[in-house]
Amino acid sequence: MKNLILLGAPGSGKGTQSAKLVKELGYFHVSTGNLLREEIARESELGKRVKAVMDAGQLVSDELVVELLKANLNLSENSYIFDGYPRNEVQAETLNGILEGHQYLAVYFKLDTENLVERLTNRRVTKDGKHIYNLKTNPPKVAGVCDITGEELIQRDDDKEEVVRDRMKVFDSTMGPVIDKYRKLGKVIEVNADQSPEAVFAEIKGKID
Ligand code: AMP
Repeated sequence: MKNLILLGAPGSGKGTQSAKLVKELGYFHVSTGNLLREEIARESELGKRVKAVMDAGQLVSDELVVELLKANLNLSENSYIFDGYPRNEVQAETLNGILEGHQYLAVYFKLDTENLVERLTNRRVTKDGKHIYNLKTNPPKVAGVCDITGEELIQRDDDKEEVVRDRMKVFDSTMGPVIDKYRKLGKVIEVNADQSPEAVFAEIKGKID
């Protein structure tokens, strides 16, 4: 199976699609956002260094993120979904090096900005980010509680509206060139992320073969 690099603004559905790709196709999921949040939850040295940056919706330094990423990959054994990495051209170059000798495709999640703001401000997650709900389109059975683990659901600080709009600007300016780069390499699959999770998944499945 080809490795997949998911490219989409925060909240475009990358996390949800990753869960489906893992469950139905046997991919391994690697999310740099989740790895960073785990560091914060563990109150590790790295976690303490990145918390303020993440709460403000800014990007963590390339060096810190790539170390964390590499420590969580075994490319000779597994096919991965890269979720949240790369976030800029430097990281895209780094990932090209990491993926040398392995096949990959970039999946670009296209979505309307105002829909995205609506989606993110209604998003609620478990503390580790692994279980994702939406208050309008996919609410938990009991308000504020995860259906699967029974944990309390929270709104990520970086899902608040002002922060979301800032992150969108960061995404457009830093990811535009990255998407163009993968396009030139003929590696981009474009999916309409403005559909139900099932429809988006069907589109991805149909295009990665
Ligand atoms: P995410 O869960 O992918 O939306 O990421 C949440 C936050 O983690 C981002 O706003 C950044 O602060 C940080 N982060 C995640 N991935 C990266 C990355 N590849 N490079 C830099 N910062 C990242």
